[in-house]
Amino acid sequence: MKTQGIHHITAIVGNPQENVAFYAGVLALRFIKQTVNFDDPETYHLYFGNESGAPGTAMTFFPWPNAYRGTIGGGQVGVTRFAVPRGALSFWRERLTSEGVVCKDKTRFNETVLAFSDPHGLRLELVEHEESPVSRYAYDGVDSTVAIKGFAGATLYSTAPEKTHRTLTDVLGFERVVEDDERIRYRASGPLGNTVDVIKKAASRGTMGVGTVHHIAYRAADDDAHAAFRSRVQESGLRVTPFIDRLYFRSIYFREYGDVLFEIATDDPGFTVDEPLEALGETLRLPPQHEHLREGLKGKLKPIDGKRFKGKIQ
Ligand code: ZN
Repeated sequence: MKTQGIHHITAIVGNPQENVAFYAGVLALRFIKQTVNFDDPETYHLYFGNESGAPGTAMTFFPWPNAYRGTIGGGQVGVTRFAVPRGALSFWRERLTSEGVVCKDKTRFNETVLAFSDPHGLRLELVEHEESPVSRYAYDGVDSTVAIKGFAGATLYSTAPEKTHRTLTDVLGFERVVEDDERIRYRASGPLGNTVDVIKKAASRGTMGVGTVHHIAYRAADDDAHAAFRSRVQESGLRVTPFIDRLYFRSIYFREYGDVLFEIATDDPGFTVDEPLEALGETLRLPPQHEHLREGLKGKLKPIDGKRFKGKIQ
């Protein structure tokens, strides 16, 4: 049993409106869900992805406008990598530069990678990725010929790389495919989010805060696979949470031996479970257990203007 790859990645950022302006405005991802952190309902949880936020495309954020900056380091996803269609990198180099984003070209495993940071310090990369399906969401001149498809992969900064390797292969079913002096690349079977790199040198612990990734989630096809993954996590000696209903998927969480917080999430039911595809992200959605808080949250959650960045499904 193998995961298909990354389900979603969740990071901590600052001001929510700045977060929406960058991911929906500049990167032209679809703002697919406006909800609260189910474990801390007085704060937002914002989701961005392809037209439906399909597994492998959802980048999600906890905006903490008054929190300190974190430091990127061991026990974190250090870099999040998005996939774009072949030939699209020059478009993105130009678009990002015109928005004042500083970009750097890198070559890795014979691929050109465009590296930059978001306004809150998260490290991001774009890479051309032919095999994955295109996004059907278009906004502001970014259409399926160039739009971000979803994740290409992630780079893990582990405090114990050898042990992280074992969790990726023995628990999640990734295959080790290639390495260079700096990193080892693992591959999963799905079309998106199917590579995870681990930096070979053990990293010293980063600190959680604005501009750092909180956790990375991997895909479980259904409840049977989810249960089997949970058993494997336990057999590997790691402590794992019970199954938790996150409304859009069901989750388990565990901190692997290299200190990175891993989640395994089911593909179903997805983001259309509480609003139609055409209206995703337009209004604040609350899970049933927090619906009674709606009135009180009005004074605590500053409204977000997402409509300004509304595009079209092609
Ligand atoms: Zn998650």
